[in-house]
Amino acid sequence: MNDQQEEQRQHKEKMQAQKKKVDSAIKAAQIERGVSILLTGNGKGKTSSAFGMVFRALGYKQKVGIVQFIKGAQESGEINFIKDHLPDVELFQMGTGFTWNTQDKAADIRASEATWQVAEKMLNDATLNLVVLDELTYMLGYQYLDRDMVINAIKNRPTEQSLIVTGRGGGRELREAMDTVSDVKNIKHAYKSGIKARKGVDC
Ligand code: ATP
Ligand code: MG
Repeated sequence: MNDQQEEQRQHKEKMQAQKKKVDSAIKAAQIERGVSILLTGNGKGKTSSAFGMVFRALGYKQKVGIVQFIKGAQESGEINFIKDHLPDVELFQMGTGFTWNTQDKAADIRASEATWQVAEKMLNDATLNLVVLDELTYMLGYQYLDRDMVINAIKNRPTEQSLIVTGRGGGRELREAMDTVSDVKNIKHAYKSGIKARKGVDC
């Protein structure tokens, strides 16, 4: 056996061991139910990842509900697309913009409670395969919504329903309640070099 063949043999052996490990891990996961996913952290990619999963679900003709906390005042490409082309997606936007823009705490609390009513209804709707609660974490951070109430609704949602929550923070209890938690790390962001938000990329 020459060096090249020996290298090939070693590679194959390593890959076989790897496959065995992956296959047995996949086989060990046997529970069939919806998953709850928290996409958090300071890096860019939380909301856009959630919408990536929306398109995945739609690809299987699943029913999707989306609630956007905070947002709605600013335009975004994904929402334009849904409004123009996906009338079956249930969409609700709080529409008040960021708290540092509204500068009215009482109005923000009223808006977040009204938005939660819609979210709660979706979390009780077993016909929805996927629910996205975009930027929900800030409502917990600002204590606009009761943490236990939110976590209970998440835990008591229909078994088959998957849920994605996005936003920075949200607290330990929320992280513990979710099945999958991804922390999107900020290495750097174009905005810090003075590059303006781009349509189709940032909004
Ligand atoms: P995206 O919607 O692009 O997936 P995101 O949901 O992870 O971003 P948000 O905190 O919701 O992040 O911010 C939305 C907007 O802020 C986007 O335009 C995004 O590019 C920008 N942004 C995200 N991360 C950062 C950051 N670390 N510094 C500055 N701007 C950011
Ligand atoms: Mg976001």
